[in-house]
Amino acid sequence: MRERIENINLSIRKISEKASKKEDIVRFDIGQPSFDTPEHVKEATKEGLKEKQGYSPMLGLEELREAIVGEENEKIGFCSDGKKLEKDHVMVTTGGMGALYAIFAARLGEDDKAVFNDPCWGPYKMISEVSGNEWSQVQFWDDERNLREEAKEEIAEADLVVVNTPGNPTGYVLSEQQAREIGEFADENDTFLVSDEVYHRLVYGKKHYSPAAYTCDSAIIGSASKNHAMTGWRIGWLVDEKENIEEYAKVSRASTACPPRISQYAAIEALNNDSHVEEMREAYHERRDLLVERMNDLGWDFVAPEGAIYAFPEVGEDSWEFCMDMIDEGVAMVPGEPMGPESDQNVRICFGSTTKEEIRKAFDRLEEELN
Ligand code: PMP
Repeated sequence: MRERIENINLSIRKISEKASKKEDIVRFDIGQPSFDTPEHVKEATKEGLKEKQGYSPMLGLEELREAIVGEENEKIGFCSDGKKLEKDHVMVTTGGMGALYAIFAARLGEDDKAVFNDPCWGPYKMISEVSGNEWSQVQFWDDERNLREEAKEEIAEADLVVVNTPGNPTGYVLSEQQAREIGEFADENDTFLVSDEVYHRLVYGKKHYSPAAYTCDSAIIGSASKNHAMTGWRIGWLVDEKENIEEYAKVSRASTACPPRISQYAAIEALNNDSHVEEMREAYHERRDLLVERMNDLGWDFVAPEGAIYAFPEVGEDSWEFCMDMIDEGVAMVPGEPMGPESDQNVRICFGSTTKEEIRKAFDRLEEELN
């Protein structure tokens, strides 16, 4: 077994294992929508089943790639040198995860380095461990939303930087100025920018800006998972120059051959008839507001989430101890420690997986325990 694989620590499992044994518990630890995939999306697979169920084209079904062009064009994310986004720039992947893996495997050798924000979504590090590249983590933004000097040093020296907006685990959403600053900085320093935008439609009272619009040396990651409540269908995508897509496709070919065909029919329907997104977004927005109110009542230090389905408050003690103890009180959260060295007193709360009623119940319990 490769040492780097053996050393991957799936420590967060400890939380779900303990939480699943407890009766009457609010599961803020689960990072997926409480909503099921919309009925019309499920229905669309029935039509899809009438087709022959062979492999799909390696880059995905043409109709889905067209639908993705439509979705991406709405946000002006692709490199802004006047080029028109076309389906040749799109590869459908097995989840956003498949897109990330294809980029890392295609671009980074063992001496190459990727840099991530602190905190970041854990799998960036795990993909690096599997793929075999170096990585580092640094806090990107100061309190005034400027790129920190330490972050500039790391990004300038790295081969690839991942920017995630709206962000997991923080719900942080880049302003236009921030997207421009980090995009241009990566461009000036020849660092390839990966813009992970899998939550781009879940933004609350703000607009989504893509840093990929400010550097042509960039790729965008998208997904049907969270925006359309389709985590189990495993459909994501990658947007980049045509010649780069051809290289990433080799990684897809070597790992999954093609994304699942039947799920692609569902994704076409989800992207083309997407009024469900607004309904879910409104529900998340209400939950976000309630969560912010209750975290304020507790006196926690946090940046109010402006997107995605997570908050990342500082709880003032070791995040592992806190999370393990709170499971006993009936509230499951994810420790911040594995998400970054500066995040060991933070916890991730997923408000996307719970109802308002459950948020109330959880915070009544936390208040009783902590006050
Ligand atoms: N990026 C981020 C930041 C995520 O949170 C997720 C899902 N948790 C993904 C990428 C990948 O999503 P999927 O593979 O389900 O499309």
